[in-house]
Amino acid sequence: MTELVNLHISEALDLLNKKEISSVELTKAHLSEMEKARFLNAYITETPERALADAEASDKRRANGDSLGALDGIPIANKDLYCTAGIRTTAASKMLSHFVPPYESTVTQKLKDAGTVMLGKVNTDQFAMGGSTMTSYFGVTKNPWTDEKGEYSLVPGGSSGGSAAAVSAGLCMGATGSDTGGSIRQPASFCGITGIKPTYGRCSRYGIVAFASSLDQAGPMARSVKDCALMLREMAGADGHDSTVAELPVPDFTAALTGDIRGKKIGIPKEYRPDGLNAEVARVWDKGIQLLQDAGAEIVDISLPHTKYALPVYYIVACAEASSNLSRYDGVRYTERVSGHTLDEMYENTRTDGFGPEVIRRILLGTFVLSAGFYDAYYTRAQRVRRLIYEDFKKAFETVDAIVVPAAPTPALSYEAMKNMSPVDTYLGDVFTTPSSLAGVPSLSLPVGLSNTGLPIGLQIIGKHFDENTVFQVGDVLEKAAGFNLMPHRVKG
Ligand code: GLN
Repeated sequence: MTELVNLHISEALDLLNKKEISSVELTKAHLSEMEKARFLNAYITETPERALADAEASDKRRANGDSLGALDGIPIANKDLYCTAGIRTTAASKMLSHFVPPYESTVTQKLKDAGTVMLGKVNTDQFAMGGSTMTSYFGVTKNPWTDEKGEYSLVPGGSSGGSAAAVSAGLCMGATGSDTGGSIRQPASFCGITGIKPTYGRCSRYGIVAFASSLDQAGPMARSVKDCALMLREMAGADGHDSTVAELPVPDFTAALTGDIRGKKIGIPKEYRPDGLNAEVARVWDKGIQLLQDAGAEIVDISLPHTKYALPVYYIVACAEASSNLSRYDGVRYTERVSGHTLDEMYENTRTDGFGPEVIRRILLGTFVLSAGFYDAYYTRAQRVRRLIYEDFKKAFETVDAIVVPAAPTPALSYEAMKNMSPVDTYLGDVFTTPSSLAGVPSLSLPVGLSNTGLPIGLQIIGKHFDENTVFQVGDVLEKAAGFNLMPHRVKG
């Protein structure tokens, strides 16, 4: 039998249902892999007792013939941005480093109700701001894929870099991520796994530490399109705590995996192929286009004319919303206090001590673009251009069923390279993911090929609002056609 930590969720469910393996066995295999791979720094908090208790309860349900959840007995990890009742939730910040939420986020509650086993909380960029996990107060996570010398010198991407690394290295079978401007899709690409940012409004944001509320979306990260479809079904749906969640029925996304995309129209936007596009990324994109065409899809050249404004618009809107959302960390609620002689001084001391430099930079930027003298020049204008980006996608989807573009402009970068980059240079890494975030459309990232040095490169499949079905359908065909080898660099300890 395949090693337990190599199994896909769909395969493990089969074996569990046939009683060939138990959830306790599956969970123990993951806990021991986590121990071996601690040097990757994927987890901020491991919860082995909770995991074993969850697994035993699941095995008991199966043995007794009780009703089972759709993911009963499957070990997963949660991004440390999701509030978990009684379990520390840090948002990878000093500010929340001792925060134990009294309540559970809707998405993690739903996954619990589906019978999953929680292995722990995984690393992220601080307050989900970044693309490398380098802004985490708990240190950077290492990408399980090594460089040419076989060294763990690469970032896993971010902000959901802990989730991506843990899934890739077999330290969990699937993980929650969250995506504001690419935080599921870019780390999925860097670590050679699959993840989907669903339509804005598909999953509840209740209990997820807020970054930019009009963009934040929960989503699954796993080792196959089918596993993401299985997880998303359990994560999605309205809950009464978040009025932006659509009151739409959540389909069985796996039913969309028909393997047949003949006649589907796939749009290829010319704006995603600027002069100087990384040649390896371009090669993998072309390969993906060819594979889809071979599978019977019709390839259509399209234009999304406002694409070049997405990055500046994103950084204005996201920082504006972040500055407002993060005002709650004031030394009075949630957090530990650093006292001062006056109330203002206490705020100042607490926030200076509790936030890292990237978070402070964004609060300053956001406060600036919302300030009376600059509101219209930056914030209002950005909102207007956001609308145009949304209209671009709407118009494109009048003629195509899905759009296929690269997930990131490069394969995984090294820490050394990133350390020397300016903040704006790092923001450029979000160029391919921010347009669909601003438009609120669903987008899946899956690994399609390798760089010249053997690193994974992912493509995005973007769909119409609430049409995750087509996104999964196309993604599944592309996954099978690409035949990507998921884990050549399995950590051996
Ligand atoms: N890398 C982007 C940023 O730094 C996206 C982050 C995210 O999606 N949470 O804002």
